[in-house]
Amino acid sequence: MRFAPAAADVVGFLAMEISFPQHGKPPERADLLPLLRAAGADLDALYARADAVRRAHCGEAVPIRAIVEFSNYCANGCLYCGLRASNAAPHRYRMAPAEILAAARQIAAAGIAGTVVLQAGETPGYSDEDLASVVRRIKTETPALAITLSVGNRPRDVYARWRDAGMDRYLLRFETSAPDLFARLHPDCTLAARLQCLRDLKSLGVQTGSGFMIGLPGETIEILADNILLCREFDFDMIGIGPYVPNPDTPLGDQPNAYAADPDMFFRALAVLRLANPDAHIPATTAFDAVFPNGRDLALQRGANVFMPNATPSPLRKDYQLYPGKPCIDEDATDCARCVQARLHALGRPVAQGPAHSLKRPPTTR
Ligand code: SAH
Ligand code: SF4
Repeated sequence: MRFAPAAADVVGFLAMEISFPQHGKPPERADLLPLLRAAGADLDALYARADAVRRAHCGEAVPIRAIVEFSNYCANGCLYCGLRASNAAPHRYRMAPAEILAAARQIAAAGIAGTVVLQAGETPGYSDEDLASVVRRIKTETPALAITLSVGNRPRDVYARWRDAGMDRYLLRFETSAPDLFARLHPDCTLAARLQCLRDLKSLGVQTGSGFMIGLPGETIEILADNILLCREFDFDMIGIGPYVPNPDTPLGDQPNAYAADPDMFFRALAVLRLANPDAHIPATTAFDAVFPNGRDLALQRGANVFMPNATPSPLRKDYQLYPGKPCIDEDATDCARCVQARLHALGRPVAQGPAHSLKRPPTTR
């Protein structure tokens, strides 16, 4: 596939090289840095190229994944996160299996989202078997819905059990590719252990989503480039990235985003991520809305192709505050469905039908 050059400039050329390397040589950090520094007309060209690559590889239709934040209990202490165990601020909740099932039924009945994403703290107050049973029941009652789980690190055999119960996909960000920065921020986990979980998931045939936060305190532009390259190396089916948002109820709360003075960096990162990963599903994550007016709409025009509306029962949403400024905490699921349709309509993008599985390989057969 060829694109007419958007501008006769170095950005256009490099972007082309990264998406379609001429000599089979994978892109390197030095290839990405000029793109991550693009400004003015070059930046416009970068966004246009990312949008064109998204259109060519993913199409115009936007897969909708509805997210149910089913528990805010967490035993971990990630330094940036509002759900960390020692934070007394949130009222802790756990949805009963019947409530999770009701949420899934509602999503299926609305007919907009083809996937339910079940997310919670790493130790959400359910046994691994409880979660397997929830997955099994959703699959039986609403077979058209793809199921994504996102509950942190687990041993391979637990992922295998969930896959056998009907889990199609798993989301687990590596957060940062810098091992020392990862270690500083995660008292309960190493980068090596996190990457092993991701390898396990891939080897089990589970569609694997990962990603990172943009602008963690201590992140450099070189680390950002390496984060993007690590996504390409793993060839993830889905890649979710979003700005780090300081949460005052956490130990990192007083440390600003590394790009606080240059918010375009969030979108540069997204656009370069798309160029380096042409056929990955890339969501316009909620954190873009938290830092930028209409941030998710801009993300959909600068490389992202997926939307993830909140389908958590409204009274619980305010207590799932990973970071402040999270949008849509007062809306209910019907408001969210309507809002998604209006947003996409305004962008001239249709809603994708069906589960919209990975673009990289056929869905797992069980
Ligand atoms: N417990 C699971 C899922 C919930 S956390 C897990 O850790 O994988 C989901 C994501 O929220 C994390 O991967 C992290 O990237 C993001 N997150 C947490 N705190 C954040 C913050 N302060 N700013 C931006 N994103 C944050
Ligand atoms: Fe728990 Fe996930 Fe937050 Fe870490 S990022 S404290 S594992 S909810």
